[in-house]
Amino acid sequence: MTRPVDTLRQQFASDNYAGICPEALHWFLEANHSGHQPGYGDDIWTQRSTDMIRELFQTECDVYFVFNGTAANSLALASMCQSYHSVICTPFAHIETDECGGPEFFSNGSKLLVAESESPAARLGKLTPDAVEALVTKRSDLHYPKPKVVSLTQATELGTVYTVEEVRAIAAIAKRRHLKVHMDGARFANAVAALGCHPSDVTWRAGVDVLCFGGTKNGLPVGEAVVFFDRALSEDFAYRVKQAGQLASKMRFISAPWVGLLENDVWLRNARHANAMAQRLHEAVGRVPGVKVLHPPQVNSVFAQLPQPAIDAMYAKGWKFYQFIAGGGCRLMCAWDTSAEAVDAFVADLATAVG
Ligand SMILES: *Cc1c(COP(=O)(O)O)cnc(C)c1O
Repeated sequence: MTRPVDTLRQQFASDNYAGICPEALHWFLEANHSGHQPGYGDDIWTQRSTDMIRELFQTECDVYFVFNGTAANSLALASMCQSYHSVICTPFAHIETDECGGPEFFSNGSKLLVAESESPAARLGKLTPDAVEALVTKRSDLHYPKPKVVSLTQATELGTVYTVEEVRAIAAIAKRRHLKVHMDGARFANAVAALGCHPSDVTWRAGVDVLCFGGTKNGLPVGEAVVFFDRALSEDFAYRVKQAGQLASKMRFISAPWVGLLENDVWLRNARHANAMAQRLHEAVGRVPGVKVLHPPQVNSVFAQLPQPAIDAMYAKGWKFYQFIAGGGCRLMCAWDTSAEAVDAFVADLATAVG
């Protein structure tokens, strides 16, 4: 009963438009064929995927599965902060712009401290050691929420990537200032694929304490893993997950598909493919007259300025993508299954729409 996926009905709005990759689906079905299993994570699949994440990172980390990235970030940050603390992030950070105050809510009021937005790094969606230092040293009195966490998004919301050295440098400042380091890795796979480094090198070996390891945009049906490299921070985390309504009763259907992603490095293969399609899209879109690509893609997104009539014409043709993401730019996002045909069809329609 398997039907071929319709590769022409693909969109560039978000990598969450894509379906489930075959390997994740395989283990989802395997979990369903394994008979009755205990609920709430006491099953063989949750054990297995947790062990695989530990092997992947080559360290004894604590791993929790939640339904989505907002919960992963919000609960991770809540476990790192008291209510009077603050979290340093960029103005583009998903935790700042797209989580409806979830981090503040779940931490009972920890404030997000947004870094400056004018430096070249900031315009590419990145924090720098200087930006962190500026926020930490801005105030030291008790009338201001005490900085406690630096939150990095890897890959960033603007499709850029922190190098291992950049993460290390920020984590070094964080350590000196007694801050913890959180990484929003909704697109961690795309970043690791782009860097070509070992996943441990850009996380705990560089000083990251907690990683929200994204699975959904990489090909899972649902689910993100919260990975505590600093295991002291995960104390009572299970209670937070439960209280927040994020403890899946049939946990195995979140965790088993992770086996499919992790086995044979499918997560990296999926990410490399998405990144390569963004490269193809970038090159082709850049050749369309009147289109300005804002910055070269490092992962699976292309940011471009398109003339408004062309945007309207593309929407009228049924294409979906977001505007106003990077200072007026359109964001074109590729997924694990984006086909070259879909890229070419999009660019052909864009050329017509512009011309
Ligand atoms: C998609 C995304 C998330 C997770 O969003 P949910 O919709 O809550 O799953 C988190 N951070 C970034 C940078 C994202 O792009």
